[in-house]
Amino acid sequence: FLPHLVASMEEVEQTYIMIKPDGVQRGLVGEILSRFEKKGFKLTGLKLFQCPKELAEDLHCSLVSCYVFLFFVLGFATLEPRPEGLSETTSLPPRGSGKVCEHYKDLQSKPFFPKLIDYITSGPVVCMGWEGVGVVASARKLIGATNPLNAEPGTIRGDLAVQTGRNVVHGSDSPDNGKREIGLWFKEGELCAWTAVQEPWLVE
Ligand code: UDP
Ligand code: MG
Repeated sequence: FLPHLVASMEEVEQTYIMIKPDGVQRGLVGEILSRFEKKGFKLTGLKLFQCPKELAEDLHCSLVSCYVFLFFVLGFATLEPRPEGLSETTSLPPRGSGKVCEHYKDLQSKPFFPKLIDYITSGPVVCMGWEGVGVVASARKLIGATNPLNAEPGTIRGDLAVQTGRNVVHGSDSPDNGKREIGLWFKEGELCAWTAVQEPWLVE
């Protein structure tokens, strides 16, 4: 059991790190990137990207699909009587389906969600894929607590930010989400598999 546990803890993982628009605007890109580089992780993808203002678009799309849906439901309802037991209420489509909404889909019901989407789409972000042994949890430690005032000094948020709504950087919270988020933000051909010459000096 123990050797298996140690082996699984040492697995090479992928994480998605994103410097948020405040980090880019404040000129912190080099500083943030260098913390992951110096730690010994390997960069697999890097790009500057302006997210579309998707919430408004998505809400518009949701409304349109709602109308289309209602059109069909009402059309069929006039042709045939509603079968017994069929609910009279229909659930609305999810609030957004663009890249940022998909990225933060678990937070769609939170009151801060619209502000979060405004924040992430307010300027360019830096999208990064990083690879390494235990990189997911380690990157979360390097980043620090969600609220920068609770983040330890020495962490990115602890050193460089003061407010949850402007916490400069994102990091995946699990290896599965790492893969999912890298797949969401990068297209095929934008990622590089390469061998770093320093690897034998980092991992025995
Ligand atoms: N956030 C916010 N208000 C909150 C909680 C979260 O604005 O009360 C934002 C913040 O930018 C945070 C992001 O939503 O980084 C995602 O929240 P999560 O709880 O996943 O925090 P993280 O994983 O980024 O530390
Ligand atoms: Mg999170």
